[in-house]
Amino acid sequence: MSDHPSLKNSVALLSGFGKHRAELLSKEFGIESLYDLLFHFPIRYVDKSRFYSISEIQSEYSYVLVKGVLFDLRTAGEGRAKRLVGELKDATGSLELVWFKPPQFLLKTLKNGQVYQVFGKTSRFGNSFSIAHPEISKLANPIDVKGLGIEPIYSSTDKLQKAGLSQRIVKEGIRKIVTSIDFSLAENLPKSLIQKLQLPQKTEAIRNVHFPQNLKQVDLALNRFKFEELFFLQLRLLYKNLVGQKKIKGRRFDHVGDLFLKFYEHHLPFDLTNAQKRVIKEIRKDLGSGIQMNRLLQGDVGSGKTMVALLSSLIAIGNQSQAAIIAPTEILAQQHYNDLAALLSPISVNVALLTGSTPKKERKVIFDELSSGSLNLIIGTHALLEDTVVFKDLGIAIIDEQHRFGVAQRSKLWKKAEVPPHILVMTATPIPRTLAMSHYGDLDVSVIDELPPGRKPILTQHRTDSARLKVFQFMKSEIAKERQVYVVYPLIQESEKLDYKDLMDGYESIQREFPPPHYQISIVHGGMNAEAKAFEMARFEKGETQIMVATTVIEVGVNVPNASVMVIESAERFGLSQLHQLRGRVGRGAEKSYCILMSGSKISDDARTRLEAMVRTQNGFELSEIDLQLRGPGDLMGTQQSGTLQLKVSDIVKDADILYRAREAAEWILKQDPELALPEHQGIRATLNRLLRGNLLWSYIS
Ligand code: ADP
Ligand code: MG
Repeated sequence: MSDHPSLKNSVALLSGFGKHRAELLSKEFGIESLYDLLFHFPIRYVDKSRFYSISEIQSEYSYVLVKGVLFDLRTAGEGRAKRLVGELKDATGSLELVWFKPPQFLLKTLKNGQVYQVFGKTSRFGNSFSIAHPEISKLANPIDVKGLGIEPIYSSTDKLQKAGLSQRIVKEGIRKIVTSIDFSLAENLPKSLIQKLQLPQKTEAIRNVHFPQNLKQVDLALNRFKFEELFFLQLRLLYKNLVGQKKIKGRRFDHVGDLFLKFYEHHLPFDLTNAQKRVIKEIRKDLGSGIQMNRLLQGDVGSGKTMVALLSSLIAIGNQSQAAIIAPTEILAQQHYNDLAALLSPISVNVALLTGSTPKKERKVIFDELSSGSLNLIIGTHALLEDTVVFKDLGIAIIDEQHRFGVAQRSKLWKKAEVPPHILVMTATPIPRTLAMSHYGDLDVSVIDELPPGRKPILTQHRTDSARLKVFQFMKSEIAKERQVYVVYPLIQESEKLDYKDLMDGYESIQREFPPPHYQISIVHGGMNAEAKAFEMARFEKGETQIMVATTVIEVGVNVPNASVMVIESAERFGLSQLHQLRGRVGRGAEKSYCILMSGSKISDDARTRLEAMVRTQNGFELSEIDLQLRGPGDLMGTQQSGTLQLKVSDIVKDADILYRAREAAEWILKQDPELALPEHQGIRATLNRLLRGNLLWSYIS
């Protein structure tokens, strides 16, 4: 069965639509064909599926359909309070109907003694009930007891309403389509799934979405469409993976190499956690498989991802290939470079740093060494992605703090080697399971779910500006114990000037409170050049300054174990993941650490939820779930990537259950028929091909 060909026709042909309204419909909702109109789903339903008897009405604010005889119709009140009042009576009782500012036609047409059907919202009126502004019409067939069914309500816009495209016209248009004799839609889910999951057929589901007999049918029908949407999303990701495994060869690093072994056995600065060991094993397996690795490594702040990056790089280098580690900021790249160069000093690995501020001369040397192959490991920022950076043989690219990287950037990496390099994406912002499954379904996921031993929980508190003096006192007491303190200000690009002023005002008040020579203060912000930033960071790292006043440039990667207090100013302006990242800058040493979230006393509900969540938990996964609830998937993925997941009926937050089922189903189908070659899978195949051509998903980057 296929879609009936006439469904391609324009909606302009439907009675009541016409050319002008059809054009508007296209502009407002992108609806052009009859088929499109079928997928303009109601936004809600009004239940008129049965008549209530009046004595059955028990609760206020419920919508009921009743029928009865109208009596005692009268106008009451004067001027603005003027209203039309009547009583509706059936065999069981009566209720009051009232219209404020009644329209003329009601005054003219309503008559005592007539039988009417009435629909509206109940409110209590003394001992009985009342309905204000009910829908009322003469009862066509007084002995009809079936009610009026479930009424769909469609979304509309001002423009459409002004143009006279009413609910009734839309509804009747759709009714015409679905009741035509030869109406049919191609079923694109295989029989096996429909049976297994007891889903309604597509044709039936469309009918029930628009003209259901009861609300249960609506649920079943909507769930089918949600399932269908998520099923194809999953199928697309998994199918591409399968194809990828066949076609996208990767280099095979079949031994870990001497470098890795030497480092692992003699130079590890600490015992790896079990989670780190497990993840490294997973990566080793990927690198030895001959298939290109695309792996996402999730691990909370401080879980030790850097060591995983290093060991993975050593495998590539030990196989005579090169490795690159890419960080989102210069400070982080610099820090990685310092840490890794120190760790690597006992073994012979040639490592360099490349950022936007690497001097020209040095840059040239690095370029030469990269292309000749004498440079084994390069650490850098986005600068590494530029076309001028040419590797002899890039074997693995590791991207740290992935959420700042767009797809376009990821794809640039692929082009840096003939056989695409293995890719490891590391993120400290845990991605909720549903998001990982929908946005990163094409990546394998590793998780470091364990922190190195000896970490103490960070005590987090929310304080308002009125407690500032106490906070200063607390900072002093920590500094007296020779600890160090961060004070962070928000930086939001659009209002950079304002932010800068906040930062400078704050800096001045801290300077007043913490005067030299007893106290030394560092300051780092986006307006400083790299050299000045590095200088200030170094002073803080060496303990020459006790306080680091900064904007969010320090958000990722900074590692000063002696710092024990993180004060976040205007904390209500930060997102949850940012707050969590910032908090992760403390608690890195043996000392008890603190995070103080400063805000004004008036903050939005969302901001309060965020701050309360921060105080309550330190679990990054839990926070990411809350973040997803608060912001929705689009926002969470960053503007660059939002809107890319064009889900029409489903919502990966609310429909997580359906998403899991869809994932399982897609796996089940592909297991039976990886090529989608079976006759019963041609429906899925056709839909899939259409989706793949549309290339809507960014997350796959070939
Ligand atoms: P992140 O996952 O946030 O990048 P890092 O790699 O920066 O974490 O590690 C945080 C700190 O923990 C670093 O000082 C690092 O040396 C230390 N570390 C990492 N792994 C271990 C371990 N297994 N045992 C003890 N300390 C570790
Ligand atoms: Mg890190």
